[in-house]
Amino acid sequence: MAAEQAKIIEQLMGSNLSNFSSRGQVQFTDRKVCRSFLCGICPHDVFVNTKMDLGPCPKIHSDKLKADYEAASYSHDYGYEWDYLQDLERHVTECNKRIDIAEARREKTREEIDRTDALMKEILHLDHTISVLIDEIKALASKGRVNESIQRFTAYNKVKQTKKELVQEVLSINELPSQASSTHQKLQVCDVCSAYLSRLDNDRRLADHFSGKMHLGYAQIRDAAKELRQLLEKRELEKKGELTEEEKGDRLEFQEAVKAT
Ligand SMILES: [Zn+2]
Ligand SMILES: [Zn+2]
Repeated sequence: MAAEQAKIIEQLMGSNLSNFSSRGQVQFTDRKVCRSFLCGICPHDVFVNTKMDLGPCPKIHSDKLKADYEAASYSHDYGYEWDYLQDLERHVTECNKRIDIAEARREKTREEIDRTDALMKEILHLDHTISVLIDEIKALASKGRVNESIQRFTAYNKVKQTKKELVQEVLSINELPSQASSTHQKLQVCDVCSAYLSRLDNDRRLADHFSGKMHLGYAQIRDAAKELRQLLEKRELEKKGELTEEEKGDRLEFQEAVKAT
């Protein structure tokens, strides 16, 4: 009966509740348990209700299992921190990729703006040619120089067609070129969280960004990944007995301080 009820509740509420109901039997060593949560922070918890919301973690988060793990890891190295590091660094890598894409998009837009500027210059030049040709056609026609007038008229049609094509290209690059140029040139990409920032933003808006949940979340994950990598690599060296002289000194000092207490 209980199993059946749990199944119905699981279907209704998603996986988290089923984790809760089966927690009694699960050990922290179970692969279903979130190792990032055991070791520190799970990225799924960091970006809740932000643009980067990852949804609920598919693995079990349990404070009790976390406490069990912390107690057990004093006397045994489970190696879970390497899994945790891998998870953190994956999110950092993904964010860095988004930063590159955002930068590329911004660059591309700048290229498009440059092309638009060049086209507009050309169009202006053609407009001038058109008005000159119209004057010439009128003048030649008034003097009865029909053949020359028709020649000019052919040239006029050609220039008009070229202008039409250039205008089409401007429109296809951006329907509102003036707006695009004023906004995109002033954008920059946040090198922590990949969001676009406007150079026109006032201090208040920038402060809002830098204290925002998404930005702080990525700052936290980046810091945690960096610190953890340093720590784990240092531990690896210690295991191999490759301590530097300075580190040996630090360690001796630490051991003496411990003895003294
Ligand atoms: Zn998790
Ligand atoms: Zn940011």
